[in-house]
Amino acid sequence: MRIAADPYTELRNRLFEAELLFSTGVDGLYGRSDTYQGIADAVDHLMHRWGHDVGATVVHLPPLIARSTFDSTDYIRSFPDLVGSVHVFNGGDRDHVELVRRVSAGGDWPALLEPGEIVLSPAACYSLYPMCAGRLPAGGRYFEVSGYCFRHEPSTDPTRMQAFKMHEIVYVGEPDTAQRHRDDSLARGLSILTDIGLDVTATPANDPFFGRLGAALAAGQLDEGLKFEGVTAICSDDRPTAVMSANCHRDHFGAPFGIETATGAVAHSACVGFGVDRITIALLVRHGLDPSTWPGPVRARLFS
Ligand code: 5GP
Ligand code: ZN
Repeated sequence: MRIAADPYTELRNRLFEAELLFSTGVDGLYGRSDTYQGIADAVDHLMHRWGHDVGATVVHLPPLIARSTFDSTDYIRSFPDLVGSVHVFNGGDRDHVELVRRVSAGGDWPALLEPGEIVLSPAACYSLYPMCAGRLPAGGRYFEVSGYCFRHEPSTDPTRMQAFKMHEIVYVGEPDTAQRHRDDSLARGLSILTDIGLDVTATPANDPFFGRLGAALAAGQLDEGLKFEGVTAICSDDRPTAVMSANCHRDHFGAPFGIETATGAVAHSACVGFGVDRITIALLVRHGLDPSTWPGPVRARLFS
């Protein structure tokens, strides 16, 4: 008798069987088929049109972030369980001999590596803030940033990946414009996703801050209404999945990165982030695993 898998594993199995995603043997780390990537690229393009509309400067980012930048974001304090750090070999010949010996013995070779000057990027917008250091032009600036992000949360839920693409529209500048960007972006994001056939609703949210100290941070973020998510049912109606988030950071990045408004005040920032992989999988679940059979209006919005 076949034991039914949970709905998350069931969906992942369907995506593997259809060869839309490919297993690497690690939960949350997948290869993408050309069909899957074509949908993801089309989703990216929807955000790109938005960036173009607001005159955003486009920055494509690598999946890595400077350790010095990472330290200034305070991410390690709030989300130590999600962090991934890059370690490198800085040794000489003798260390190499020991390294090879440990590899051959199936031993602990990573212990011989040292922290590099980079860590894995947990959010696309973080690398942007040091690029904005100094005085901004009057009215602030819009940026469109995208890249792969890493969060260490292995799961059989195919929408909870360790490595996933994020696409963001970020505003840096005046406090009231930052607040407005967050609010307007939430509405515009929901409407873009609704237009491609996803049933998305907005909900107040908090980040998954770690531990007992984190509970207070999460409660504060909720109380102050700093984060909203657009959620849609992918595997479960009771536990919908966040496919986008709209965040007001106030001076959380402006202060540590020395970003000033045109009048010399500490700049505020706000971002709207889209989970490109989650949107891709939501589309496959909603419209079927073969995009050539999707409704005409949805295909037109995505592929023309
Ligand atoms: P946030 O910074 O709000 O946690 O993440 C922004 C967006 O990235 C989320 O709304 C979601 O769509 C996407 N995202 C966050 N975590 C994951 C994940 O584990 N896997 C995937 N595929 N996307 C994620
Ligand atoms: Zn962001």
